[in-house]
Amino acid sequence: MKRRSFIQKSSSATVAISLLPNLFIQEEEYSVLELMGKEDIKLYGEGINLRKEAHDAFLEMKKAAYSDGIDLKIVSSYRDFSRQEGIFERKFINYTDEGMEPIAAIEKIIEYSTIPGTSRHHWGTDADIIDGYRKVEGDVLDPEKYGNGGPYEDFKLWMDENSETYGYHLVYTDEPKRRGFKYEPWHYSYAPLSIPMLEAFRGKNIIALLETEQFYGAEHFTRAFLRRYIQNNILDINRDLL
Ligand SMILES: [Zn+2]
Repeated sequence: MKRRSFIQKSSSATVAISLLPNLFIQEEEYSVLELMGKEDIKLYGEGINLRKEAHDAFLEMKKAAYSDGIDLKIVSSYRDFSRQEGIFERKFINYTDEGMEPIAAIEKIIEYSTIPGTSRHHWGTDADIIDGYRKVEGDVLDPEKYGNGGPYEDFKLWMDENSETYGYHLVYTDEPKRRGFKYEPWHYSYAPLSIPMLEAFRGKNIIALLETEQFYGAEHFTRAFLRRYIQNNILDINRDLL
């Protein structure tokens, strides 16, 4: 009781906290449920939906981009487990209905979509970003639109130059030797939060967690497949984020 009133009343408490070494502050624990998108987390900003720190940094970056004539617009950020499950199951049913073997269907899904429970979009740290000023026909998440002569070329050049200043890093780069998910020039991650979250996730038994899942297609996961998926799709990303 005494201690609590001291913390509430004393203005020096704030000073003391800000002086704590980083190590102590970064010791925040992330639960399995939180890392797998199965827990409600606090999200900030209409149309932004990111954790507080990532939201604040995004707004700063957005302001800077405005002054260079680019409107950073998030098309997708936080997704919970059941959203990702819906995406995965719909694709699995479509591909297998078209006559694909289950394993081939899963391999095709994981070119761009994650297995539910393993998406970085579960963390509230990652976002798919475009330039809202550009009028674009068809799918905005198409790598060609971010290249030479594409409508998002200026966006990509601006992000290459500036995003890391705000803590945002591309996850699925176009390095030729990278495996796992294909090049996604729209998918950025707020590194100060997502690096410790990936580390926490790696510390869990991901294979055992996925083996207990019941969604369509999950019954075809083998240990070897899951091991390769973790190695390639979860861990073969931009090295800045490891
Ligand atoms: Zn994404």
